[in-house]
Amino acid sequence: MKSRLFTPGPTPVPEETLLELAKPVTYHRSAEAKAILAELTDGLKYVFQTTQPVYTLTCSGTGGMEAVVSSTLAAGEKAILCTAGRWGERWRGILKAFGVNIVAVEVPYGQAVTPEMLHQALAAHPDAKVVFSTLSETSTGVGHDIEAFGRIVATTDALLAVDAISGLGAMECRMDAWKLDLVVSGSQKALMLPPGLAYVAVSEKAWQKIDATPVRNFYFDLRRYRKSLAENDTPFTPANTLIKAQRASLQRIRAEGLENLWARHHRLAAACRAGVEAMGLKIFAQRPNNALTVIQVPPGLDGTATLKRLEKQYGYKLADGQDTLKGQIWRLSHMGYVDSFDVLGALAALELVLLESGMNLEPGAGVAAFQKALAAAR
Ligand SMILES: *Cc1c(COP(=O)(O)O)cnc(C)c1O
Repeated sequence: MKSRLFTPGPTPVPEETLLELAKPVTYHRSAEAKAILAELTDGLKYVFQTTQPVYTLTCSGTGGMEAVVSSTLAAGEKAILCTAGRWGERWRGILKAFGVNIVAVEVPYGQAVTPEMLHQALAAHPDAKVVFSTLSETSTGVGHDIEAFGRIVATTDALLAVDAISGLGAMECRMDAWKLDLVVSGSQKALMLPPGLAYVAVSEKAWQKIDATPVRNFYFDLRRYRKSLAENDTPFTPANTLIKAQRASLQRIRAEGLENLWARHHRLAAACRAGVEAMGLKIFAQRPNNALTVIQVPPGLDGTATLKRLEKQYGYKLADGQDTLKGQIWRLSHMGYVDSFDVLGALAALELVLLESGMNLEPGAGVAAFQKALAAAR
């Protein structure tokens, strides 16, 4: 049986990128390594839609988030945290660890923080230094209106930090045009690489704050990455094999064109939602994003056991809910190296296990709705 990965990180990796990973290891302080890092940085600037350099850190996405918090804020300073799920809570955990004074703007899982809520929080806390937000809340499938957040925060002295780890490369996000100050991404979501690299971009406004903040980190001190990248280098030994492979996946993104890629994810996500709803299931997110589809487990069904059956019988690996959502939702990723027929297969397999579980369902209902939606979008 074939294994098929539909988890919202890690995601499938294109063949030409996998081949890069199979090549012999090379030394990381060479002219060639510098040229490769320069090319990677250029590709990342395109994906982030920024003229600022994008720093490559060898760590998972959370390391990039920690670099942002620990480089930007002194202990006791105030930050506004917009949280709509587990990844908003990840920001909270890091902020707590660094002694930041947190003002939380919180909504129940499945909902999105609105620009109006953020506006009110900023008005009530003009001393807040940074606003923390999440582009694609991968734990619930919600997408935030980061463009509107950027408009609001830009009129204040505060900075806007965005966890774009699962959203970047799957949905529209323009760092410069939207006035985002700190943007973090990771390699194993829509950027089509195995886990291991985090990417951080910093605006001029954010650098002013960072340069005025006492140093309280070492490996994650963004100043070190700025200094090294000016020479197309990294402060510590980078995962250079991954860097070479990321270059290959970024070439794929460039060849498609970012706007085509956003449009493709949009079509795929809309068709997937149509398919799910035609199966009689509900979408969990009130403001769904295009990176993944999050499905509510129908009443009376064991969500966790159903996913296990889907994997064991048909090879399709979807993700369960996390923490309090375990068994309550199914998360189907369609970001990165995933096409229509991959998702079509996943919907067909899901229909099969639901039929076998005794759910009242017309075989092919979801598949037909998916095809209709795709055909209509052409
Ligand atoms: C996956 C993910 C993370 C965490 O990344 P790690 O690589 O596991 O550290 C953070 N935020 C979002 C939105 C994610 O999807």
